Amino acid sequence: MIRSYKRFAAIAAAVLCSGSAFAQSNADRIIDYELANSRAYETLSHLTDNIGPRLSGSKNAGLAVTWTTKTLRDWGLNAQNQAVMVPHWVRGVEHGSLVSHNDQKIVLTALGGSIATPANGITADVIEVASYDELAKLGRAKIAGKIVFYNRAMDMQMVESGQAFAAYSEAVEFRSTGASHAAEYGAVASVIRSVASASLRTPHTGAMRYDEKQPKIPAAAMTTEDADLVHRLLAKGERVRLHLVLTPKTLPDVESANVIAEIRGSEHPDEVVLIGGHLDSWDLGTGAIDDGAGAVMVMETLRVLKELGIQPKRTIRGVLFMNEENGLRGGHKYFDTAAAREEVHKHIAAIETDAGAAPPVGFITTLEGAALSRMQIRARVLSRIAPIVFTSSKHTGADTSPLTDAGVPGFGLVPDPRHYFDFHHTPADTLDKIDPKALAQNTAALAALAYLIAEDGL
Ligand SMILES: [Zn+2]
Repeated sequence: MIRSYKRFAAIAAAVLCSGSAFAQSNADRIIDYELANSRAYETLSHLTDNIGPRLSGSKNAGLAVTWTTKTLRDWGLNAQNQAVMVPHWVRGVEHGSLVSHNDQKIVLTALGGSIATPANGITADVIEVASYDELAKLGRAKIAGKIVFYNRAMDMQMVESGQAFAAYSEAVEFRSTGASHAAEYGAVASVIRSVASASLRTPHTGAMRYDEKQPKIPAAAMTTEDADLVHRLLAKGERVRLHLVLTPKTLPDVESANVIAEIRGSEHPDEVVLIGGHLDSWDLGTGAIDDGAGAVMVMETLRVLKELGIQPKRTIRGVLFMNEENGLRGGHKYFDTAAAREEVHKHIAAIETDAGAAPPVGFITTLEGAALSRMQIRARVLSRIAPIVFTSSKHTGADTSPLTDAGVPGFGLVPDPRHYFDFHHTPADTLDKIDPKALAQNTAALAALAYLIAEDGL
């Protein structure tokens, strides 16, 4: 009796630590199926090539909601739309030239949310800074009436050592808040060096926001090549004058939607493992890496589970979030709805995929210590796809951040990040940057992890 109890306890402990054999074998099936029969690339090809750029509020973003909803339904899934009001910012004309240097063209793009310049543009001297401290030291006397040029490059050592997202977080602050900081000292516009790990003279857009206490001034990003040009001219001690024309508009908010579909759990259907990516993209490219890839990984996970007839004990809910790029309204709408229904803590995990589709290297997760080690062991079946490593991180995704901030365990899929910011938010974010095999590997990793957690719990 004692012996058999000990044996039972040992088996129970092994299952708790390493997951059930049943779950492991189903995860194996999911991986095998996805690696051999993936339709993720085909789905992504429609989203990017047939529908195109999907900026929030645009006609294409609406088409993407309709098409993904219909496609999921065609696959036998009960897809629903969760309505959400989103910003509607429209890029206009964008033009920059150095009037001080023979009207050489400066390749630049408006930052999302920027106001327009006057119709005939702004012409002003350019003053370069690399930090807010430098800006403050120059003060109003030097800054007033000028175009502030924030020139801080991404830390390429960090990028090359796999810390590209940390390098991005560091460099992106001037894009987010640089215009208002410059306006505080009387600047007439601000232009940043694109937040980029590589460039073929492609400007990188992205969201900016105004501090309501400061005057609003136009904000743009120039390519790293153009930033280097302006820097070299200023370093020669020359006066650099830029003519800048931007004509974006902020139109009234538009109703859009998150697209939600799920595989209901067989034993605990009210307990949810959320998998999410975002359906909207910037307008310059077709949003293949950001985040068409993530959106189709979520769709494909549901398709594969349905196709294989695998129903885990807990619900796997796929969410295609709207408006991650310039507002996060979809992420907040999802959370607020869950909170109103007191369902936030029914989410046992939130897994986000918004980092492209280079070959997978692992997951970041809010799990730490023993829970992190246990996860690494439980997910050992994923090592068949690639050497998947789980690493602790406070932030595991933007759309799921309201959930993880409320204490829901978070996961973020990490494809090799070293070239992600070469293309991120540029006209070059297009389908040709996606390797179908790596996309399937990422999908297999996402699907297997979601299934293991939904079957055996966390
Ligand atoms: Zn994204």
